Amino acid sequence: MTSKDYYKILGVDRNASEDEIKNAYRKEALRWHPDRHANDSEDKKKEAEEKFKEIAEAYAVLTDPEKKKMYDTYGTVDGQPGFSGGFNPSDFGFGGMGFDDIFNHFGGRRRGGFNFHESHEPGASINLQVGVTIEEVYCGGTKNVDYDIETRCGHCGGQGGHGIKTCPYCHGSGMITETTRGAWGISQVSRPCNHCHGKGTVVEEVCKECGGTGVKKQHKNVTITIPKGVENGGQIKIDGAGYESKDPKGINGDLIVTFIYQFDQSKYRVAGNTLYELIDVPYYDVILGTEKEITLPNKEKIKVKIPKCSRDGAQITVTSKGLNYGNYIAVVNVIYPTAISSKEEKHLEDIRKIHK
Ligand SMILES: [Zn+2]
Ligand SMILES: [Zn+2]
Ligand SMILES: [Zn+2]
Repeated sequence: MTSKDYYKILGVDRNASEDEIKNAYRKEALRWHPDRHANDSEDKKKEAEEKFKEIAEAYAVLTDPEKKKMYDTYGTVDGQPGFSGGFNPSDFGFGGMGFDDIFNHFGGRRRGGFNFHESHEPGASINLQVGVTIEEVYCGGTKNVDYDIETRCGHCGGQGGHGIKTCPYCHGSGMITETTRGAWGISQVSRPCNHCHGKGTVVEEVCKECGGTGVKKQHKNVTITIPKGVENGGQIKIDGAGYESKDPKGINGDLIVTFIYQFDQSKYRVAGNTLYELIDVPYYDVILGTEKEITLPNKEKIKVKIPKCSRDGAQITVTSKGLNYGNYIAVVNVIYPTAISSKEEKHLEDIRKIHK
């Protein structure tokens, strides 16, 4: 007995309004539309197809007041007492609802199949990870990044071919209905048409420029700004720098850059405008006190005064030498010797005698 969470499938909560359900459905259906996955691996294609069906099923139930009530009450719509006839696949998804009906709600299709080009589907976004050094975090800066994007094929205008005609396999509906004989008798199951990938239309002649994909790869190079003090995992978004939409009216996807620290984080720690640095100090310097010269990430040299009898982990603040004139804090890391000379040993023995 299936008890799918239709709300979860559409990504809406249980109190979602009909409009919210419709919007969520539209978003998800576009995302998993077989047309968008035509060039994926067989596994991915199958996954998209399954999702697409599941979404349609969720939509069919949640927008039908009777079925929704049944579902909200029993958590399922199949095989419950009083639900005459038990489970019938054609009550759900495309069979009962009709692919056309679904999309007609949104005005996003024309006769002959669902048409992507009227939905102004935006291009896909790109995620890039960019490594940053402590110098770049401390000073901010710019970096050139290279990546590949897909742009709309200029030859076919993103259509993938020339001359659009009704798909001869599904006759424009975008769906193929199969009749099977199973435990419940004869049932009909519909699935997106493989030939046109649910679009309902095919091209007369495949575009030679793009091989029918409607897109072309293009190398891109952009200069990104590394914000001063950026956090590890911090992101910036560059609007419109992602994939170009297949639709001339659709907007481009975005470029999302995630900054990843590429430096020893046990040595440097950035907290807001404060820069912490772990500095190694030999045991005798910790006891006697000293002044250490430190090179900041911007190569500036500063003096850090370590007071007499400091302890491991002691923090010494130098004002305005952090980020944006925040504090620089040196954290003392006491270094003990792993071997000592006879001369050093003799002196230490003398010290011990003082304490006896
Ligand atoms: Zn083309
Ligand atoms: Zn077809
Ligand atoms: Zn062409």
